[in-house]
Amino acid sequence: MMHEKPVLIREDGLRHDGRRPDELRPIKMEVGVLSNADGSAYVEFGGTKVLAAVYGPREVHPRHLALPDRALLRCRYHMAPFSTMDRKSPAPSRREIELSKVIREALESLIFVDLYPRTSIDIFIEVLQADGGTRTTGLTAASLALADAGIPMRDLAAGVAVGKIDGVLVLDIDEVEDEYGEADMPIGYAPSIDEIVLLQLNGVLSLDEFRQALELAKKGATMIYKMMKETLHNKYLRILSEE
Ligand code: ADP
Repeated sequence: MMHEKPVLIREDGLRHDGRRPDELRPIKMEVGVLSNADGSAYVEFGGTKVLAAVYGPREVHPRHLALPDRALLRCRYHMAPFSTMDRKSPAPSRREIELSKVIREALESLIFVDLYPRTSIDIFIEVLQADGGTRTTGLTAASLALADAGIPMRDLAAGVAVGKIDGVLVLDIDEVEDEYGEADMPIGYAPSIDEIVLLQLNGVLSLDEFRQALELAKKGATMIYKMMKETLHNKYLRILSEE
């Protein structure tokens, strides 16, 4: 649904919601929010709210899908029917199938899948409310849920999308900026091992802009990563204080 283009970069250089170009939205994170899953996390980036649940390593169903030398990693990204303003079909869309795949591939490069042959690790990402950046918030939540489940990983992935709006490179774009901006580049970054595990680009950037956008995204992801570590650390402090 196209409306008239809103002012994205104001005269004072700030964005439509008052953020500086390199500023993240307000972030909330929590792990261990679901007691029936092996690991879980809730992550909020502004108006984007995502829940992730992890099961496994566990027996594979159906059994013939089991792999002899490593764990089978499955990932479902799903937008709840109440997550958007417009009606969203409850059937899996092409977009949801694509996002499930890119998030799974990003995490597969980090999980030590060969430690758990003949098992499955199942990741469920449920978007409760969508306001841009649901795939990156989903990746962040899934990384936290995997860590909460105690699944060994080479590093955690932090996700964030950078965009070009009215010619300005900005960090952590929301839905309005995504809809009316010139380019949108979601990334997943593992800071400790300095690896990009997800990178997509929608729109056009010059090579120089691409390099700057990547730096901005890495900087943002590193801030998010620090919060992820703190969130996991706090969980253990909570467990210790309850003992
Ligand atoms: P991401 O959520 O990773 O940024 P997109 O760029 O595809 O992925 O979507 C941008 C935003 O557009 C979403 O976060 C969401 O707010 C909105 N959106 C996406 N799909 C739908 C849909 N089927 N119905 C309504 N809004 C949607």
